[in-house]
Amino acid sequence: MRTEVAIIGAGPAGLLLSHLLAEQGIDSVVIETRSQDYVLSRIRAGILEHSTVQLLDDIGLGTRLRAEGQQHRGIYLQWPEERHHIDFTELVDRSVWVYGQTEVTKDLAAAREAAGQQIFYEVTDTAVHEVDTESPYVSFVDSSGRHVRIDAAVIAGCDGSFGPSRAAVPDRVRQTWERTYPYSWLGVLADVAPSTDELIYAWHSDGFAMHSMRSATVSRLYLQVPNGTDVNTWSDDRIWDALSTRLGHGQNGWTLQPGPITDKSVLPMRSYVQTPMRHGRLFLAGDAAHIVPPTGAKGLNLAVADVATLAPALTALLRKNDGSLADSYSDDALRRVWRCTHFSWWMTTMLHTSDDPFDAQLQLSQLRWVAGSEAGATGLAENYAGLPIGF
Ligand SMILES: Cc1cc2nc3c(=O)[nH]c(=O)nc-3n(C[C@H](O)[C@H](O)[C@H](O)COP(=O)(O)OP(=O)(O)OC[C@H]3O[C@@H](n4cnc5c(N)ncnc54)[C@H](O)[C@@H]3O)c2cc1C
Repeated sequence: MRTEVAIIGAGPAGLLLSHLLAEQGIDSVVIETRSQDYVLSRIRAGILEHSTVQLLDDIGLGTRLRAEGQQHRGIYLQWPEERHHIDFTELVDRSVWVYGQTEVTKDLAAAREAAGQQIFYEVTDTAVHEVDTESPYVSFVDSSGRHVRIDAAVIAGCDGSFGPSRAAVPDRVRQTWERTYPYSWLGVLADVAPSTDELIYAWHSDGFAMHSMRSATVSRLYLQVPNGTDVNTWSDDRIWDALSTRLGHGQNGWTLQPGPITDKSVLPMRSYVQTPMRHGRLFLAGDAAHIVPPTGAKGLNLAVADVATLAPALTALLRKNDGSLADSYSDDALRRVWRCTHFSWWMTTMLHTSDDPFDAQLQLSQLRWVAGSEAGATGLAENYAGLPIGF
């Protein structure tokens, strides 16, 4: 089989890339290890920054987002006895949207299906070959057990942090930066109307907590827990008790409304960057090249930003034989990757507590400065609501 771009991974990065390329008349084939049902029901990120929404609007995929998503002007920053609203719209004239990654993926998958995009689901043994040459190819075993080879002009590695693409960059070229944090997030989905109009990020001596939402009837909540936490040791009652304490139930008349928990999982926190994001005819995008802790809501948005940079680079390469954007893709994408890596680290270390009382005082001082100074609040707003694509 032959195509112009072989895309590994049908997450947001892979599906969006196939969509953007198709708009330029460029063929691609997507291969995905999971089933379509699994991909379309996976619960992950839920905050779309300004430029992600703009891009989805531009390509005609903003209709359901605008109808069913919720536009937020900002977030609340909280510590015991205090809650402050950081108003992004007032500070930087940008907003964010609450619209689950699951919904973005559904919209992208529906658009690809309508366009007749070839997607192989439930493949195994994916391997990337000859990326140092002009004739790279991908091999895999399809869902019926058939061995398939796809020859392509270019391979896009959009296969997340566990896929084979990042390892296809040889050790002699590859450089990695990594930080593992000493805590994880216990995340829950609950069938209850959110108790807040916008997200609450709460510092508490028991640990960080966050109140987010997926819709008018579904809340998404997180608790900082130690690494290695067994989700089964957290009963629903224990979760709601901890959330009430950390989010300040009863303070200044605010109440947290509990409800039936429908999903519970533990997510480790990690920062990771692999460079370069291009090697020969292999281009990495999204989690395949970098991971950020979710505190700054950047993972999905960064995957979108990579692809928004990669699609025109591949179009110029494949349609005009102009390799200049492809040559600068890695450097161009990494500028934003490092900005978001720093912001995610900054939010994480400002809000997650340790046993060190000195750290706690520094965190509280920083929170007071961010909430109380226009310069501090503007820095947070600019990064959270998202810098323009290409920054
Ligand atoms: C468990 C989890 C929870 C998260 N929760 C949050 C959150 O709460 N908030 C937040 O802001 N961000 C969160 N994130 C981050 C955010 O969801 C990611 O940054 C985003 O999904 C990146 O998109 P992507 O397309 O690059 O990668 P992915 O969405 O990971 O997509 C990669 C795709 O490649 C496929 N694949 C892997 N290996 C192969 C192979 N060998 N062959 C073919 N296909 C393959 C995978 O099945 C997957 O579908 C979470 C991430 C994870 C992993």
